Amino acid sequence: MTYFLGIDLGGTNIKTGVIDDTGKVIRKHSQPTEAKYGADRVLKNMVDAANTVVSAAEMSLKDITYIGIGSPGPVDAENGIVISSPNLSGWSNYPMRNLIAQALGRPTVLANDANAAAFGEYWVGVGASPDIQNLIMITLGTGVGSGIVLNGQIVQGTCGYAAEIGHMIVQPDGRECGCGQRGCLETYSSASRTAVRACELLAKGKPSSLQEIYKSDPQQVTAKVIFDAAANGDELATDVIDQTAYYLALACINLTRILDPQMFVFAGGMALAGDALISRINSHFEAQNWHAAPNGVTLNIAKLGNDAGLIGAAAIAWDANRND
Ligand SMILES: [Zn+2]
Repeated sequence: MTYFLGIDLGGTNIKTGVIDDTGKVIRKHSQPTEAKYGADRVLKNMVDAANTVVSAAEMSLKDITYIGIGSPGPVDAENGIVISSPNLSGWSNYPMRNLIAQALGRPTVLANDANAAAFGEYWVGVGASPDIQNLIMITLGTGVGSGIVLNGQIVQGTCGYAAEIGHMIVQPDGRECGCGQRGCLETYSSASRTAVRACELLAKGKPSSLQEIYKSDPQQVTAKVIFDAAANGDELATDVIDQTAYYLALACINLTRILDPQMFVFAGGMALAGDALISRINSHFEAQNWHAAPNGVTLNIAKLGNDAGLIGAAAIAWDANRND
C-alpha cells in the first residue's frame, strides 16, 4: 500500500490527513492556521500538523510517498510557489512547496485548493471511473470556486488563474462583483448572493413565507432556508433559486462549448440541496443548450463532502507519484 500526506491549507484551519492509494482517509487532524502571525508561523503549523497526523496514524514520514498541498488563491504549481492568497494576507510568491519538502524530507507538490478538490473528485469521487477524464467542479459557497480537469490533468493556465468560473460574466452590465467586473456568475449564483437576492425582494415587501424570518433577522435567510421554502411551494423562494440555477446553466453551457467536458460536479453548502438544485440547472441547460451537437455531459453532486480538500491534496500527491 502507498500512503500520501494531504495538507489542506485554509484561512482558519490547517487540515492534514494520511490517505492511502484508494483515497481512504487513514487518519486526519486539524489545527488553527494562525494566519495573522505571518507565513513562517503558518509554515511551522503546517509542519506540526503533518507530524501530528503521521504519528497518529502510527507511521513515520518515510512511510509517506508524496505530500500534496492545497492552498487558497493562485499558485504556480510547476514551481511550487503561492503567488498570493486572499485569506493569508501578505503572502506573495512564497516558495511553499520547497519549504515543506525541506522541513518534512519528502517530495511535495502544490496546487490551488479548488483545483485539488476537483482532482480529488476525479481520483476517487464522482468522477472515479477510467472513462471519465474531463470534469469541471463548481463549488457554491460564499463565492463560486472551481477546478477543471481535462485529459486527467488539472488546467492551471498561464499564471495559475485558470478555472475562475465564478468570475465568468453571465450578465452584461450586471451586478457588481468584488473582483471589479460586473455580472460575474458569483454575483448571482453563490450561496451567499442567492440569499442576498432573496433579501432584496423581501425588503420590497414581496409576499413570501420568508417575510417573518427576514423581519426578525435577515441573516437567517440563508440558501438552505430559501431551498426549504421553495420545497414548500413558496413562490418568491422558487423564483430566487430558479435564477441561481439559470445563471449556473448559462455558465455550464458556455464551458461545454469551450471544453466539451464529460461531467459537471457541484459541491459546497448549496449543493447539499441535491436534486432541487440539479434538476433546475438541468432544465435551463436543456432549454438553452446547443441542440445540434449534444455531448451527453452530466450534472452531478460531489461525493467527497467535508474531506474534499484533504483528499484533493492527496490526489495531487497520487498524481505526482504515478507520473514519477
Ligand atoms: Zn467577479
